[in-house]
Amino acid sequence: MADWGYGENNGPSTWGKHFPIADEGKEQSPIDIQLSDCQEESSLPKLEYSYDSLKDLAITNTGAQWRVDYQPGHSSVTGGPLDAKFELQQMHAHWGTTEGVGSEHVFNGESFDGELHFVHYNTKYGSFGEAVDKPDGLGVFCIFLKVGEANHPEFGKITERMSSILRKGETSTLQAELDPTKLVPEGLEEYLTYHGSLTTPPCLETVTFMIFNTKPMTISKGQMDSMRSLLVGTEDGCDCMTQNFRPPCPQNDRVVKKIKM
Ligand SMILES: [Zn+2]
Repeated sequence: MADWGYGENNGPSTWGKHFPIADEGKEQSPIDIQLSDCQEESSLPKLEYSYDSLKDLAITNTGAQWRVDYQPGHSSVTGGPLDAKFELQQMHAHWGTTEGVGSEHVFNGESFDGELHFVHYNTKYGSFGEAVDKPDGLGVFCIFLKVGEANHPEFGKITERMSSILRKGETSTLQAELDPTKLVPEGLEEYLTYHGSLTTPPCLETVTFMIFNTKPMTISKGQMDSMRSLLVGTEDGCDCMTQNFRPPCPQNDRVVKKIKM
């Protein structure tokens, strides 16, 4: 496996060397979404999601992100642009060195401070591993992070574990039961959807995105800084994980749809 990352020598502009689709693919993600160009679509069934609150979820420093692994059989996402039942596999986030940058998806050229991804797989393929390379294999919720005054209590169950997974490869367990429902914005009236790719290698074009850009989640500066304190390597003194987002890719002829909840 190539040693990809977000540094000068292994960052997004170099990924195509080992993963040609990153440069040659026509459906790469993220993209810069021009909100006035989105097309309203009203014929889709209602997007429904349900997650159980679970104990003892594993959290890992992958060297590129933190990742919380969810347990199969405890979630379902159906409707909207999805034509089958999808299950939550894992969640992770992207962020920046400073506020003002950090999200992967960008709206009219403007970034949020971070972006949380819920990665679901299509249950018709039986497992995440089988689904990951199928065009309709994955469905990703994008939830945006904004630094404000208050701690987000549910998100805090994740960020309080950063000190126990400081180095790449370290794994720990969430101390409190995590309810993913409390991380999805409340009172959503609409979302955006389009077909794109994993935003990290291998950049497979297998993702249906569902983007909740109208209601970002507010987290505290302390919560954001705890994510920035993660290390990208296995030794003390290596670089901090301060910037782990891919810049926008060409939209090409893809249309972003706007769906009412
Ligand atoms: Zn992601």
